[in-house]
Amino acid sequence: MSIPSFTEEQVLRYSRHIILPKIGATGQRKLLEAKVLCVGAGGLGSPAAMYLAAAGVGTLGIADFDRVDLTNLQRQLLHDTDDVGRPKVDSAADRINAINPDVDVVRHNLVLNSDNAFEILGPYDIVVDGSDNFPVRYLVNDATQMLGKPLVYGSIYQFDGQATVFLPGQESPCYRCLFPEPPPPGTVPSCAEGGVFGVLPGIIGSIQAVEAIKLITGVGNPLVGRLLLFDAMDMEFTTVKLRWNPDCPVCGKNPTITELIDYDAFCGLARDEKVKVPTIMRPQVGGEPVVEGSGSTLRALLDDLESRYPGFKQRVVTEDGGIHRFVNLYVNDEDVRYLGSLETAVKEGDTVSILPAVAGG
Ligand code: ZN
Repeated sequence: MSIPSFTEEQVLRYSRHIILPKIGATGQRKLLEAKVLCVGAGGLGSPAAMYLAAAGVGTLGIADFDRVDLTNLQRQLLHDTDDVGRPKVDSAADRINAINPDVDVVRHNLVLNSDNAFEILGPYDIVVDGSDNFPVRYLVNDATQMLGKPLVYGSIYQFDGQATVFLPGQESPCYRCLFPEPPPPGTVPSCAEGGVFGVLPGIIGSIQAVEAIKLITGVGNPLVGRLLLFDAMDMEFTTVKLRWNPDCPVCGKNPTITELIDYDAFCGLARDEKVKVPTIMRPQVGGEPVVEGSGSTLRALLDDLESRYPGFKQRVVTEDGGIHRFVNLYVNDEDVRYLGSLETAVKEGDTVSILPAVAGG
């Protein structure tokens, strides 16, 4: 049997799809022509991207500004031990192409924001949200609604996960219909702060891959208008109904948000902590003696700075997540070694000083 428009190798590689009822050669062709953007190459993005790659999704965009850290490897299977310190988009691209050289990986080594979101999301058919913070979640929701693209949502916290699919347009709920506003900053711990069960994102991210493939091939009932909840400790899946909110500011009858906004400000993450940068590190931040950042802990503040000044964090933080022994950090005038090290709390108005060892004479 010969199937036009597949190479011989593709016929073999995708044979279990091609013989599968509902997918078949037509579905496989759709997968090869599909363009999917994974926002985040972390815990959720890893299984999502790897299964989409194995399934033969032709173009996979990976948007992530971060570098691989030793603490990621407990769950982020896109990255290897040897990748520590590399940009995540690079290690992700290597892994994806090792799984399937058919896939065209597009690297977006940046922070998604209101200025670049339309440009980045524009070329893709579907967006898979595996981000780890509220500003990007609201940004990606609003941008996909405005661009008319499906958004496959997943999120995790410690042992619990959530997944659903948001379709654009009225009558179908979006993330803002579900959560009109983000929680106050600092009230929901991140994975870095609260920990995360390593296999959990493997399950939720795989569900996101299933939903993306269903949308691409047009089979099954998409997880639309339903929120799937997963509790790893009780091993229970529950589904609750999601309703479209006619008063939703983005997808409602009279939308009040019709262009992308300042999502840091919307999420209460205005940058209001100051970091004094020593001369030796100023080239990293465009020569500025003082930069502003946001975060509830020193580590989160450094992550925020890293997102805008790539390479900044590694001047201060070691690969295994401690503080370099040749750098001291102060919150106001207190040495953080005697506070909570990188977990020291910081708040509006605090000034962080970086004191590197220097030996000029
Ligand atoms: Zn909505």
